[in-house]
Amino acid sequence: MGSQSNGNSNSFIKMPAIKFTKLFINGEFVDSFSGKTFETVDPRSGEVIARVAEGDKEDVDLAVKAARHAFDNGPWPRLSGFARGRIMMKYADLIEERAADKIHGQVLKMSSELQGYTLQEPVGVVGHIIPWNFPSTLFFAKVAPALAAGCTMVVKPAEQTPLSALYYAYLAKQAGIPDGVINVINGYGPTAGAAISSHMDIDKVSFTGSTEVGRKVMQAAATSNLKHVSLELGGKSPLLIFDDADVDTAADLALLGILFNKGEICVASSRVYVQEGIYDEFVKKLAEKAKQWVVGDPFDPNTRQGPQVDKQQFDKILSYIEHGKREGATLLIGGKPTGEKGYYIQPTIFTDVKEDMLIAKDEIFGPVMSLMKFKTMDEAIKSANNTRYGLAAGIITKNLDVANTVSRSIRAGIIWINCYFAFDNDCPYGGYKMSGFGKDLGLDALHKYLQVKSVVTPICNSPWL
Ligand code: NAD
Repeated sequence: MGSQSNGNSNSFIKMPAIKFTKLFINGEFVDSFSGKTFETVDPRSGEVIARVAEGDKEDVDLAVKAARHAFDNGPWPRLSGFARGRIMMKYADLIEERAADKIHGQVLKMSSELQGYTLQEPVGVVGHIIPWNFPSTLFFAKVAPALAAGCTMVVKPAEQTPLSALYYAYLAKQAGIPDGVINVINGYGPTAGAAISSHMDIDKVSFTGSTEVGRKVMQAAATSNLKHVSLELGGKSPLLIFDDADVDTAADLALLGILFNKGEICVASSRVYVQEGIYDEFVKKLAEKAKQWVVGDPFDPNTRQGPQVDKQQFDKILSYIEHGKREGATLLIGGKPTGEKGYYIQPTIFTDVKEDMLIAKDEIFGPVMSLMKFKTMDEAIKSANNTRYGLAAGIITKNLDVANTVSRSIRAGIIWINCYFAFDNDCPYGGYKMSGFGKDLGLDALHKYLQVKSVVTPICNSPWL
């Protein structure tokens, strides 16, 4: 089993100082309306590292007022894409966003009497609700294209990870983004989150999180002001490994696919299907490699897998592991906490998994792989699609026909061939089926925050006048 690394090494990365713990509204750090705060915990030890202002409906109202004012009366939406781009470039060390030069309408070819064109306009005030597993990446995946589109916004980070968004709000102000354009309200889902999704003056909610909460967000949008909704939700992504794959590389990719970010990643390859010709050799290699995987303090550069985010997530993963054992899957490796202080779980691999077992159906969101065997390509496609989710899939093969056929047959938003987690800012990313709709990254992400207006006029001698 991977060893827990020693916490006293000098090469450890220094924990950054915590500077900001209040809410960020209209360019200022402020206490919450109620004065309440909540704890944020270091998952390495379970110890409290800060108390953060807890936002609720009143704070969301103030933030929406600031964002609405900045949208209706402020310069941000009225600047050209280039002008916004110049300010955003100051912010670029953090957001790595290009100058916003992709916003343009079209001249319309119309009937002989009419001429027209389209405008791409910002959708308005956006509520971003984000989860805890990538607090920085997801903050910028949402905030950057919304800024580029000319929107103003209220961001609600997850209650488990409230700190980084406050720092990014502080940097936005330093970069010259006008007050009210970015507001950050920390708080809990059923209070601050629900206040955003049901708010009458928010024009769009961009949500990333679980499918269960995504459904609630959509319901709240439907029963309030019919705001636009985009949902990036959960997954149970398959990785298909064919007989012609290099077994060593395939085992590395499969481990990375489930253990990266301790399995707390929506596109984790939690279902691995291996063709029968290489199955036994693959299982042997996988177990050997998993034993070398270093679990330990995330501030130690040697660590490959840190602690789960909190006690709740830790307990949930362990209960799925117990479920897998009870359902009759074979534990190849792992299956327990590492035994160290903090929320550390061993890399865990189940074999003999059946598709109707809970561990093969539910998103566990932890370092737990379900390994299955297949005979034919058609069988593999059928299994890959046997899920309510459709976020991602991986294919490992040297056969171009197989790669092309399988990638067109799997209903998922991103397919990785002979790679995994190959993200690029230019490549749209988002789900099919119950993994949601609307894309982050790529030009599609920009269009998510724009709406199209058509402007039409008679060429001459208007019959309407
Ligand atoms: P979650 O759904 O519990 O919470 C996500 C966010 O929603 C948090 O900010 C939370 O406070 C808020 N929230 C909770 N209840 C709410 C309510 N009633 N109304 C409004 N907001 C509410 O998800 P999580 O546990 O933080 O994150 C894990 C989930 O996120 C996994 O399912 C994972 O697959 C998914 N995820 C998806 C993507 C993607 O791009 N598709 C990326 C990362 C994570």
